[in-house]
Amino acid sequence: MAPPLAASTPLLHGEFGSYPAKGPRFALTLTSQALHIQRLRPKPEARPRGGLVPLAEVSGCCTLRSRSPSDPGAYFCVYTYPQGRRGGRRRAARTFRADGAATYEENRAEAQRWATALVCLLRGLPLPGDGEITPDLLPRPARLLLLVNPFGGRGLAWQWCKNHVLPMISEAGLSFNLIQTERQNHARELVQGLNLGEWDGIVTVSGDGLLYEVLNGLLDRPDWEEAVKTPVGILPCGSGNALAGAVNQRGGFAPCLGLDLLLNCSLLLCRGGSQPLDLLSVTLASGARCFSFLSVAWGFVSDVDIQSERFRALGSARFTLGTVLGLAALHTYRGRLSYLPASTEPPSPGPSLPRAKSELVLAPAPAPPAAHSPLHRSVSDLPLPLPQPSLASPGSPEPLAVLSLNGGGPELAGDWGGAGDAPLSPDPLMPSPPNLPKAAVLSPITEGPPEMPVSSGPHPPGPGTPAAACRWGPPDHLLPPLGSPLPPDWVTLEGDFVLMLAISPSHLGADLVAAPHARFDDGLVHLLWVRSGVSRAMLLRLFLAMENGSHLSLGCPQLGYATARAFRLEPLTPRGVLTVDGEQVEYGPLQAQMHPGMGTLLTGPPGCPRQEP
Ligand code: ADP
Ligand code: MG
Repeated sequence: MAPPLAASTPLLHGEFGSYPAKGPRFALTLTSQALHIQRLRPKPEARPRGGLVPLAEVSGCCTLRSRSPSDPGAYFCVYTYPQGRRGGRRRAARTFRADGAATYEENRAEAQRWATALVCLLRGLPLPGDGEITPDLLPRPARLLLLVNPFGGRGLAWQWCKNHVLPMISEAGLSFNLIQTERQNHARELVQGLNLGEWDGIVTVSGDGLLYEVLNGLLDRPDWEEAVKTPVGILPCGSGNALAGAVNQRGGFAPCLGLDLLLNCSLLLCRGGSQPLDLLSVTLASGARCFSFLSVAWGFVSDVDIQSERFRALGSARFTLGTVLGLAALHTYRGRLSYLPASTEPPSPGPSLPRAKSELVLAPAPAPPAAHSPLHRSVSDLPLPLPQPSLASPGSPEPLAVLSLNGGGPELAGDWGGAGDAPLSPDPLMPSPPNLPKAAVLSPITEGPPEMPVSSGPHPPGPGTPAAACRWGPPDHLLPPLGSPLPPDWVTLEGDFVLMLAISPSHLGADLVAAPHARFDDGLVHLLWVRSGVSRAMLLRLFLAMENGSHLSLGCPQLGYATARAFRLEPLTPRGVLTVDGEQVEYGPLQAQMHPGMGTLLTGPPGCPRQEP
């Protein structure tokens, strides 16, 4: 393979017209990082706006042809999501006309060359050094199963999915089927019965809770070892979007919330790429086992999470309000935290970590970036089981519907209406024109106000709740049975605590970086605890500092941090709340072991250049 190109090396350069044909002319330059657009006529712009399109802001690309047979031009359209002046992303489709040659066939080859090169760069596929760039370089479209919890977050999940996620996934040329969950544990049961070979990924459109169901469903299959390798993705539409916050950061985007976070994560998903995901096996007092990708919490954090359920209508602000209320009624809990420090059993190839001597252990050095495999593997295009959703305008024979999806680019909408040029139709040679219907909605949209999920009530699931326990999964070779003594290389802390938190990825919430050095596949569980004696003011400062991950350097004497491979938590206070990934579990002693890289997370490419507004 050729050596990696510098980000600024021009890969393609050419002159193009626009649509409609009498519009401006552009010089386009494609590098591995961006599409540079320079207006040539009517006159070069003094201060070009939108002249640089970073690939991180592109969802996909397609080729089009004019409906007028006399138009020898061929068109390619780039779907972009630039940030507006106030930071929010807006969709803008840019259409260019290849018209340098006399015949349509030649111009089409040029449009396809550009579209193919762009898609290859987006997906991290190699471009041939000297060979021709033709659409057959592109793999068949990946097939995603989207699971949408219509009650996620403020009940906006379906709206956002329909208006933003589905159009973008179509633009990227991905195939998808969509299922709306009808109740708690629906997603879990669904993935247990799924023929996984039919899917390249399962993507949840909700908060962290729905992905928790999916991963536990995959691990509760006799073929769990294969099943848990199914790439899973998360598109944040919930009130708790911690994993999405971590995906957003890894993708090189600035921290954000709400729709911006959703659009960033959707852009990353469209580009493909996955990496191993650590999963924590958690054994509860009853012996029931579940798997966590996020957190185990006791004390302040779990209290806030569960008590703030009643402020669900606030979206992620529910945690802010809950934190303030939680500070007012601060509790302490007596308990024991024991852990196997990370350094005693280094993972096979990874970096070895300093042995935890004191309570406050320095964060490990960041590990080298993990290789990411392309999202696209061979896909079987199954016949669509059910009618398509109302994605395109009903009855419209024109392919224009896709351009007006998601509101459409206003400049283009104007062109379609007022221009003398004939409208464009998709060029069939691109493997997956975005305007061909590919999706099926498998369950009806439920109308009416969201009901509270079962888990959000005041009653936690009882011990041994059948749906909550995984019967399969890997053995926990680092854990003696709950109740038996721990090996001598474990560290034990006992006392009064305000909170204990075990976290796998960096983020505890979309804007809470609890373990700034954590990585999806570092094989570590990051333990944080705050002992009693902390002032309310200091606790508030800790949580405010967590927004940028600087809480560990505040010098708070009650704050402790360690990295571990396994831990045991024994509450000695008779009443309290324990959560796993934000879901309440039975209260009592629990223990957990990290299983490094057991899952696969769809993350998009790493370290895109940071997108500042
Ligand atoms: P949020 O971040 O808004 O809490 P989650 O994805 O965490 O969103 O979902 C909250 C809870 O709703 C989870 O326990 C999930 O299992 C449950 N759930 C999923 N689908 C449904 C549904 N259709 N109706 C009710 N509850 C559901
Ligand atoms: Mg949740």
